[in-house]
Amino acid sequence: AKGDGRRTYRFFETGMDQRAKTRRSLELELRQAISDGSLETYYQPVVNIEDGKISSCEALLRWRHPERGMISPAEFIPIAEDSGLINELGQWVLNAACAEAVNWPDHVRVAVNVSPVQFRSQSLALNVAAALAASGLPASRLELEITEAVLIRDDAALDALHQLRKLGVRIALDDFGTGYSSLSYLQRFPFDKIKIDRSFIRDIAGPGASSSIVQAVVNIAAASDMTTTAEGVETAQQRNLLYILGCTEMQGYLFSPAISAVEVRRLLLTHSGM
Ligand code: C2E
Ligand code: CA
Ligand code: CA
Ligand code: CA
Repeated sequence: AKGDGRRTYRFFETGMDQRAKTRRSLELELRQAISDGSLETYYQPVVNIEDGKISSCEALLRWRHPERGMISPAEFIPIAEDSGLINELGQWVLNAACAEAVNWPDHVRVAVNVSPVQFRSQSLALNVAAALAASGLPASRLELEITEAVLIRDDAALDALHQLRKLGVRIALDDFGTGYSSLSYLQRFPFDKIKIDRSFIRDIAGPGASSSIVQAVVNIAAASDMTTTAEGVETAQQRNLLYILGCTEMQGYLFSPAISAVEVRRLLLTHSGM
């Protein structure tokens, strides 16, 4: 048994070692990717539930790795956050998304995810202002998606949010319902929009509490002048329930996955409702 234990331990150590190495090399390659064109922003349309018209598109990062193929942002964003590279990466996405959105019809906004780590830098509002100025995109057409992790941190983050709001950009609370005490965060900042996490939408037609939770979120949002976006809508049944519950917008494979900038331009030229 002793021998087995040691072997297990050694195996575990090697596993850890391997993971750390992979992480380190991914970090180096990600640094490289920012400058060599293997990173790309895709865009997922968000549509009004009532008429199916596209109101905004969310920028989602894609990394075409030369050997590993497509790497999911769920895998490389945490690495970028740990290494601090997210600041550079975040600025790159902001610039790319604003520059792309000036080509879209005036009523279509662009949404960009901002990591809690970016809120630790003192210059977030300045960086956002720089991206707007460089692209010529009006602030009102930019929406920043943040998670409640931003609000847990400190008052400095709250100040930054108010600075961003003063610029005229819209602020959405992303992945709502997945954190610890989400409801209290709604009081800390006047968000423009709540994005209801996909986990609730997935179960909305089931026997559990999901549809009641969505209904409660929609009611709270309406009472505070916020709109609601349902994430991960995949079926017409989910869409119909969300419509009945009074949700404002939806995003998901039912309408479209994230698509390339070229495809979005083409879609926006021809699209006039679902
Ligand atoms: P998120 O912000 O919650 O983005 C929504 C995710 O759900 C996207 O995954 C999208 O492709 C996926 N999705 C959309 N509709 C459906 C659907 O109907 N069904 C299913 N199963 N999935 C759907 P993606 O693109 O892999 O991004 C994962 C996460 O990575 C994002 O979650 C976001 O947290 C992060 N991320 C992506 N791009 C950026 C970025 O530029 N900056 C930062 N900080 N984070 C990013
Ligand atoms: Ca998001
Ligand atoms: Ca989300
Ligand atoms: Ca998410």
